[in-house]
Amino acid sequence: MKIPFVTFAPLEKELDVNLRAAFERVYARSRYILDEEGSAFEEAFAKWCGVPYCVGVGNGLDALTLALSAMDIGPGDEVLVPSNTFIATALAVTYTGATPVLVEPKLSTFNIDVEGIEEKITSRTRAIIPVHLYGQPADMDPILKIAEQYNLRVLEDCAQAHGARYKGRLAGSFGDAAAFSFYPGKNLGALGDAGAVITGNGALAEKIRALGNYGSDVKYHHIYQGRNSRLDEMQAAFLWEKLPLLSKVNENRRGIAARYLTGINHPDISLPAVPDWAEPVWHIFAARSARRDELATYLEENGIQTSRHYPIPIHLQECYTSLGIRKGALPIAEEISATELSLPLYYGMTREETDFVIETINAFPR
Ligand SMILES: *Cc1c(COP(=O)(O)O)cnc(C)c1O
Repeated sequence: MKIPFVTFAPLEKELDVNLRAAFERVYARSRYILDEEGSAFEEAFAKWCGVPYCVGVGNGLDALTLALSAMDIGPGDEVLVPSNTFIATALAVTYTGATPVLVEPKLSTFNIDVEGIEEKITSRTRAIIPVHLYGQPADMDPILKIAEQYNLRVLEDCAQAHGARYKGRLAGSFGDAAAFSFYPGKNLGALGDAGAVITGNGALAEKIRALGNYGSDVKYHHIYQGRNSRLDEMQAAFLWEKLPLLSKVNENRRGIAARYLTGINHPDISLPAVPDWAEPVWHIFAARSARRDELATYLEENGIQTSRHYPIPIHLQECYTSLGIRKGALPIAEEISATELSLPLYYGMTREETDFVIETINAFPR
């Protein structure tokens, strides 16, 4: 049996007619930028998330960057970011001219360790970006409390967490704003690049919209030195067709993760912990093993593709030598990058496929 790390085939087969209809609809209208598909999706996604405003943008990185800019974060400011996340979270901060300050995660949940936040706060700290990593919500209550105490803006990075819940409430509904990516591989993915910011703050939404549209509030009238980052009509139409399936997709992913959690039983492999307040959507199923590379090779030889999230932590990336953080300074992030192995997990993964992964892992020579 051959198991890919991810495939879109089952979902695209199910939505084949809808996606082709979406293409035809937009193509027939010949309006590709800022028209009714974009507004329809923004309205539907805001409603789905239970927040008043949604602004479609070009991708997840832009969603984060534009939200920070709209919060007036820039040179001289510091923004708290988890040390274990996709690099886009940090890049968004540096794009504004501010400095990312890395906070270690917890090894058990991979998410930011709330105990480590306060010691990283200085007089320059302006915001925190909790990332709901791998589809598991960050511990929001203590984060919101610290943010209130130190007057920090909160921008949730929801790129991996469409539909995840913390104490019953949807990720993305806690902060001043939340950034989503609709990169094809995310739980809700377009057929190309796309992203969005959601917020309960109307003035912030308006500013984000203007910043992503050449800084313009009315056509050819520019109030900011903005940029071009808009959700295009074709992607919006595809997303509009896919949104009604998101809950079903997440439910399916939860079923697969549940089978992994009960079925995988090997002394050299640890599985992600799920706090009782968390309802993850399993963007990534992150196992850990000191024998990670050996395990990955063994699975590959048995037809099972895996991945790593992320093989090099942010502070050790070439582009961030400027942060001046030496190897060994963020041991948890380094430990995760050395031991994490992401198992195959995709909508429509069959019972046989899941069982095959479980059985093969359990048979990993000890
Ligand atoms: C994917 C991702 C992003 C960036 O989204 P893009 O649409 O690829 O720009 C940001 N943060 C996290 C945690 C991500 O996983």
